[in-house]
Amino acid sequence: MKQYRAGCLCGAVRLRAVGQPDRVGLCHCLDCRKYHGSLFHASAIFPEQAVAIEGDTREWRGRHFCPICGSAVYQITDNEIEVNLGALDESNQLMPTMSSGSYGAKPGYRRFPWRITIFAIGNRIVVTIINY
Ligand SMILES: [Zn+2]
Ligand SMILES: [Zn+2]
Repeated sequence: MKQYRAGCLCGAVRLRAVGQPDRVGLCHCLDCRKYHGSLFHASAIFPEQAVAIEGDTREWRGRHFCPICGSAVYQITDNEIEVNLGALDESNQLMPTMSSGSYGAKPGYRRFPWRITIFAIGNRIVVTIINY
């Protein structure tokens, strides 16, 4: 079965996910932007039982990071684990096929004057940059 290995920058936190993720996507919500200090967040979402984690983390509202180097490694939401794509050891394994959290309709969603959208049409991935 397919395996994905990931970890923090210093190596104190290691993670292994087995099987295919349920979803791979981008999130543009304000929480993800603030937490990652980035214009959007990308992660692969696995069932909780598919992911094994080694090393101690600190956590804020389900977002787990390395207490030594500060790397954001994964999130736990309900019974799923979102593995940050940037934490993967091999960067060419997974590609986002969806994006969310960005339409500005909900309170608290900060809008930039542009956003990246990503979606799949059959086996093609379409990425666009939209200006509002
Ligand atoms: Zn670390
Ligand atoms: Zn988000």
